[in-house]
Amino acid sequence: MTERLTINSVVEMDQAQRDALTDAQIMDLAYGIDYYDPWMSNGAQEAKRQTQIIDNELAPRLAAIKAARAQARTPRKHDYPNGRTLDCGCTIYDTHEVMSTQNGTSCADCYDQMSY
Ligand SMILES: [Zn+2]
Repeated sequence: MTERLTINSVVEMDQAQRDALTDAQIMDLAYGIDYYDPWMSNGAQEAKRQTQIIDNELAPRLAAIKAARAQARTPRKHDYPNGRTLDCGCTIYDTHEVMSTQNGTSCADCYDQMSY
């Protein structure tokens, strides 16, 4: 039975069932999470309960999944994509890792040794 999940069925699940939802299922529910309208259901109390599930559980999970995917799509660019070998012999990938010593360039780990 692979019935497509709806946001209405998810708010009727118990905690354990909701915790077991996969990231893909949460993404499938994205529209419902963003645009859920609890007033279509019965009573203010019930509407509040459902809104809390959406706001406190589902929306944060959806946001976390989206953030993780966005990060995966845009890997951080290095200043030296192929690495730069410093005078200490180490290879670094970003300018902020380069330190100047009286004996040449050094990474932070070797800085103390290079300074003498
Ligand atoms: Zn080094």
